[in-house]
Amino acid sequence: MTSAQSIPQYRTQPGRRWAVANLHPEHCPVCDDELRIISRGEDGKTFVSTCECVNVRRRIRLYNQAHLPAAYHDKRIESFDAKSRNQHAALHEIKKFRDKGAPGDSGLLLVGAPGVGKTHLVTALLRFLVLERGVECRYVDSFQLLEQLKATFDAGSGSSVLMEEVSSVDVLGLDELGKTKPTGWQHQVLDQIISRRYDQGLTTFVISNYALERPRRQGRGANPDPLNLRETLEERVGSRIFSRLMEMCRPVIIDGDDRRIPSVWRS
Ligand SMILES: [Zn+2]
Repeated sequence: MTSAQSIPQYRTQPGRRWAVANLHPEHCPVCDDELRIISRGEDGKTFVSTCECVNVRRRIRLYNQAHLPAAYHDKRIESFDAKSRNQHAALHEIKKFRDKGAPGDSGLLLVGAPGVGKTHLVTALLRFLVLERGVECRYVDSFQLLEQLKATFDAGSGSSVLMEEVSSVDVLGLDELGKTKPTGWQHQVLDQIISRRYDQGLTTFVISNYALERPRRQGRGANPDPLNLRETLEERVGSRIFSRLMEMCRPVIIDGDDRRIPSVWRS
């Protein structure tokens, strides 16, 4: 082993189904992929130590289990381009969790119109937690989650690995909440997931295009605001799930342009 040899790092890229990470370079020159190093001490005795690449490999495994969206594989907190006051405030909350947060702490409920960077912020935080802290995280789009669970149940298996993953992972990113208005079994399943996370005190980051409350006054004619104000998140997911989420997460309103936000949204 020479001093020029260094531990491989991770490299992320878009995979076919989600973002993937690999060891870069693929080969560890320090341990020759043996994962352990045999050294000889001054007294002539040999001792075995674990190679540092083991930790990098573990984080890569966690990243590949997190299922971050492929297009977001390299989104960083630092590369978020905050323009509006609300985007700066949301970025501040994400940075606060990055610097001081830990699994078990309250998550965030990011609410705002499509395209303002909610998914960027949450996936960038999950990326950081997985790769820099080694925290077990999972991202899921709630619409796809319910579709996939339905396929599992239709196939005749009552419980699913996916259900277990999202119910028990240390940090969950739940995107597009409210996109599907869950009814019947869908509502039951979503309620079960949120209840289990609530009971276990697990951290959840929720993203939604639906408002937390209905604006008191609306302008004449069509509402130009892209936020979906026709229904609130509570109306979309039901009071029980909504009130749990409000206890588990700190609500953060995010929009690209402050001027488009009805006054009721301004905090
Ligand atoms: Zn190694």
